[in-house]
Amino acid sequence: MDNWLLYVIIVAAIGIGWWLGRRDKDKTSEVVGPNYYEGLNYLLNEESDRAVSTFIENLEVNAETLETHLALGGLLRRRGELEKAVVVHENILAQAKLSRSDLQGVELELARDYLLAGLLDRAEELCVRLSQDPASKSDGVRRESLKITLEIYEREKEWAQAIEVAKLLAVGGESDHYEKAISHYYCELAEDQLKRGDLEGARVSIREAIGHDVNNPRTSLVRGRLDVKEGHYDNAITAFTRVRDQDAVYVPESLEDLEQAFVLDGRSQEELRHYLTSCLEQTPSISIVLMLAKSIRDELGDEAVSKFIANHLKKNPTIRGLTQLIDLHIDNTDGVAKENLAILRSFAEALVADKPSYRCHSCGFEGKRMRWHCPVCKDWASIKPIFGLEGE
Ligand SMILES: [Zn+2]
Repeated sequence: MDNWLLYVIIVAAIGIGWWLGRRDKDKTSEVVGPNYYEGLNYLLNEESDRAVSTFIENLEVNAETLETHLALGGLLRRRGELEKAVVVHENILAQAKLSRSDLQGVELELARDYLLAGLLDRAEELCVRLSQDPASKSDGVRRESLKITLEIYEREKEWAQAIEVAKLLAVGGESDHYEKAISHYYCELAEDQLKRGDLEGARVSIREAIGHDVNNPRTSLVRGRLDVKEGHYDNAITAFTRVRDQDAVYVPESLEDLEQAFVLDGRSQEELRHYLTSCLEQTPSISIVLMLAKSIRDELGDEAVSKFIANHLKKNPTIRGLTQLIDLHIDNTDGVAKENLAILRSFAEALVADKPSYRCHSCGFEGKRMRWHCPVCKDWASIKPIFGLEGE
């Protein structure tokens, strides 16, 4: 499709160039060279490099031809030919016979080329200048340049700078979207601070994260971990158990820390089971079932836990649950039956070995590990566990 479009755009451009040339020739009697036909030749011979350079050398940039130049640059970028896209956009700027607002539009396109090409410094410099340009009469240009700047800071993991830019964007609309992102930037900061042992800094960051999105379940996870580090196990349990009410699908992310906090605080297993059962009513997650099973087995024995898992599997069959059930029976079986169960177990394991565990609800990206930031669509908290036979 893109090949066909490139063909159409360059042929159209050559046609426009030929027509403009003829028109100018009528006016000025200048001779028009055969370059337009040369460009067409390169294209027919599939030499798109030379076709593009012939095109930009021969079609002057002005208000009439600007859209054609922009269409070619945009198309090259979509095809991933970023170097050529940069050449086309830089060529437009070099000729500079355009209005200020047209030039700003081209600079935005060039910044997008730089961003995709990984030339983040150049993209940042261009966008910061555009967003601060007092001549930026159009709020659209300022906003678009801020959006590109935000993407640069996200890629560079410059969370403090990302927060500043997202706050500017949140004022102008889509405030829920940016408030959610700001909450995650503060969580990123808090996680870095926790790793470095800066507990005071992490406390300040997590307070801000909650302030920007009180329903962000990640804030409870980070806050709980911080409470554990400070020895406040009771507060940690309060934080971890808040995840159920914020978004129960993220409860599995809290289980390991929650179990540890229960032990450190000396709380009863019965209380833990009570909480986990209430979570299961909201989300039939096998991770929750397995933690419940562990607690039931420790206190009530193998028979009680087999019955519990089998009951859950009848309603929500999963391969991970089946594997756990087989494990319980392997321990109490001998001889051929034990060997057969071991074969069955390896089949079950092979079935889920290469399957992704998480999926982005915005773009469909799938992965094995939990991420708060989708690497493809750049959405925050759009990745969730996959439920069903091969997943949770
Ligand atoms: Zn995504």
